Amino acid sequence: MMTGEQYRASLRDGRATYFEGRLIDDVTAHPMLGQTVDSAAAGYDRFYDPTPGAVGAFMMVPRSAEELREQVELHETVDLLTHVTYASIMTLLTAADRIQDAMPEHAARIRTWVKQAQQDDVRITQCITDAKGDRSRRPGQQDDPDAYVRIVERRDDGVVIRGAKLHISAASMGHELMTIPTKGMKPGEEQYAIGCMVPVNAPGVKIINTTYAPRHEDKRDFPFSGTHHTPEGFVIFDDVFVPSERVFLDGQTEFAAVFAHSLGLWERLGGLAGMASGFDRLVGFAQLIAESNGLEKVSHIKEKISEMIINATLVRASLEAAIAHCHITSEGEAFPNELYTNAGKYHGAANYSLMVRHLHDIAGGSVLTAPSMADIDNVETGHLVRKYMGTMQSVDGLYRTRLFHAIRDYTADAFGGWHAVTQIQAGGGLYAQRIVSRAHYDIEKAKAEALKSARMEEFLQPSLPS
Ligand SMILES: Cc1cc2nc3c(=O)[nH]c(=O)nc-3n(C[C@H](O)[C@H](O)[C@H](O)COP(=O)(O)OP(=O)(O)OC[C@H]3O[C@@H](n4cnc5c(N)ncnc54)[C@H](O)[C@@H]3O)c2cc1C
Repeated sequence: MMTGEQYRASLRDGRATYFEGRLIDDVTAHPMLGQTVDSAAAGYDRFYDPTPGAVGAFMMVPRSAEELREQVELHETVDLLTHVTYASIMTLLTAADRIQDAMPEHAARIRTWVKQAQQDDVRITQCITDAKGDRSRRPGQQDDPDAYVRIVERRDDGVVIRGAKLHISAASMGHELMTIPTKGMKPGEEQYAIGCMVPVNAPGVKIINTTYAPRHEDKRDFPFSGTHHTPEGFVIFDDVFVPSERVFLDGQTEFAAVFAHSLGLWERLGGLAGMASGFDRLVGFAQLIAESNGLEKVSHIKEKISEMIINATLVRASLEAAIAHCHITSEGEAFPNELYTNAGKYHGAANYSLMVRHLHDIAGGSVLTAPSMADIDNVETGHLVRKYMGTMQSVDGLYRTRLFHAIRDYTADAFGGWHAVTQIQAGGGLYAQRIVSRAHYDIEKAKAEALKSARMEEFLQPSLPS
């Protein structure tokens, strides 16, 4: 396994990664992106085990509902790069399980690669979302054939790929880009049915970073995003050679969607778990600020917080159901329940804006305008800020100002905006979760229940569950 220091050294590998128009010489030393490297390095040190052959606890494959719950809880405490590495490993194993019968060689190749990746303690990011061009047209019908990542050349020892994957979390901080189709492919779209592992420093890979990291010097005003932030990468594959042993899908259009669906499951489980704690946090902020404003007993405030509590509880209940009803594969791996994961993630994403609306409504305008911590430090203004930001003897202005900074940073500033869009889009948009929920819901059983309850049993189909 690698220590944090070894991880830092491993990133100085000639990778072509850019920020605001400039090639970054050394990502570990970059004033903004280097902070994400620090978080990831701390993750390495946390899980470091010098025993030969050891695998990081965060990478352990769960084999029961209890182990799956432990992993979900553990991942609530890790940095994003560590988490996406785990979700990538689980995606690959899920896909291997699903292609096992039809493509046993590829399934074996995936499992061999995963074992090695665990041994090498590398970090993996998920390259699935293509540039996509005109959304109403299939990959092969685009004006630019590179709108979806594709194979442009076949060689005896591998393939050459071209295209771009957008919004890739932590792409510049990992070692491997898990590159898989964004959706199912049809016959004739073989060049787009490509699944492979690409090293970040492979010739032809270029990554452009964007980040919500605050530009302010005083991080006290940004308790969430001030020190922990993760950039997204706009990942370009400018004719990149990928050797055969790193290729897991090569033209088998009928299995292209397997990879996307496998990733969707693990991404949404992570999203759901994040929402379960995030929604509790939003309820907590709403209650704290209502108490600070002296309004916690007012009926419309209590109603709003009750609605927030119900949403938070439903999201947590679906997470619990997704874990408790997990599926154990032929290899003994525990995978979360698809229906509860997707329905829960959908419910949370669809109601996130309501949660934030109630919080902002309850909190008041100081969410945006509370003076900075430096204004409290200032001898001329500090005592006045505390006086007027305070609301009663028991609520000091400093305490209430800090609450407002936390609420702004979490819900109303650069990170807050990132958070709002991410709730909906990450792991696929709302529509994707609706499709998967529908596919896994037992609609025939529901129809039969309806007929039985209407005393119309004679219309039950014999093949349907009775
Ligand atoms: C912060 C953040 C982090 C992310 N991290 C990752 C990551 O690590 N890896 C990764 O691969 N992706 C990542 N994503 C990408 C995310 O999965 C996508 O944003 C999401 O799948 C939507 O794709 P899109 O952005 O291209 O939007 P679009 O596909 O353009 O979707 C916009 C809207 O159009 C609808 N739409 C699109 N096509 C059609 C169609 N043919 N018919 C009908 N309706 C359609 C969609 O349902 C949606 O409502 C991340 C996104 C964000 C915001």
